[in-house]
Amino acid sequence: MKITAVEPIHLRVPVVEAIPDGTLDVLVVRIHTDAGLTGIGEVTSQSYVCKACFEAPRSAARRHGLTSILLGEDPLDPPRLWEKMYYETNRYGRRGAAIHAISGADIALWDLKGQAEGQPVYQLLGGRHRTTVRAYASVLFGETPEATAALAGEFVELGLTAAKFGWGPFGRDAAVDLAHVQAARDVLGHDRDLMVDAGHAWDVATAIQRAELLAPLKIAWLEEPLGQDDRKGYAELCPRSPVPIAAGEGDVTHWDFEDLIERGVHIVQPDVAFCGGLTVCRRVSDMCQERGRRSVPHCFSTGINLTASLHWMAAVPDGDLVEYCLRPSPLMRKLVKNLPPLVNGRVPVPDGPGLGIELDEDVIAEFRVAD
Ligand code: MG
Repeated sequence: MKITAVEPIHLRVPVVEAIPDGTLDVLVVRIHTDAGLTGIGEVTSQSYVCKACFEAPRSAARRHGLTSILLGEDPLDPPRLWEKMYYETNRYGRRGAAIHAISGADIALWDLKGQAEGQPVYQLLGGRHRTTVRAYASVLFGETPEATAALAGEFVELGLTAAKFGWGPFGRDAAVDLAHVQAARDVLGHDRDLMVDAGHAWDVATAIQRAELLAPLKIAWLEEPLGQDDRKGYAELCPRSPVPIAAGEGDVTHWDFEDLIERGVHIVQPDVAFCGGLTVCRRVSDMCQERGRRSVPHCFSTGINLTASLHWMAAVPDGDLVEYCLRPSPLMRKLVKNLPPLVNGRVPVPDGPGLGIELDEDVIAEFRVAD
């Protein structure tokens, strides 16, 4: 089988506000073959830039566009093509937009391999440990503790058994922070997991104080208490924190995650549509297994990202948690025709060949940015 075309498709809703919401503007990647099979992937990044990473022509060594690297290749060995894409984009890649773009190609290659071999992607990643994955949903803290409590109530109504609150008014004042987390905990009760995303708010000393303050509320993890580049800070904080520390939604390649693990981060959070794809995610979860850590997907864009994350988590022995995005954007709700639903706080893993999803061509036509 040979790759005959690579199609980076930029989808964008009419109004994209400057808010932390990955559901408004995405790059879908379709890889076509001479066998008539088409693989689907997604990039959650700067879509205009990542589209150019595909469309840039061949150049001098190790500075080629991704499409030119992939055309004519046999798609059935995604890790081999990952290495080829990574090496052949070395001069402008390694980190940033090029590796984000590689994520979309890599997901599509795993989808193609599964379709060609009649296997769901989770089988290719190591076999199935579960048929459904427990979901957690994320939301910004409310403006007041009462508003946070109301949001927690909505999660309970939806049947979720785990919820994450972050950003918004959180991080500036210890008493306010405690009031918000207490409000969420009171509504969620002690049978549901509560996670807190500090949104890069603190230095090490403040993070330790807040972790000690929040520990009695039994939070499942404290996410990104420090800046993403404060690697020394994580090495100081993690061994001293009374609650597990989570980080890594902005990191890429298994080397970045190896670094986080070596600095003591307890839970790493690769985003499959950003970190380098399923090839990277599988390496990261293998590393976590070996070193007694945990990987939980960051996933806040479309049903393609969700489905790839579900296949990954189905194949990881302790992978029973996925982020489930509840934003109303049509790119999250409608792009994937058979979007895996939330059922009693869990999400079924598709079991057709490949990713097992079908895209809605009307949604693509409506939101496609003209070339
Ligand atoms: Mg986060």
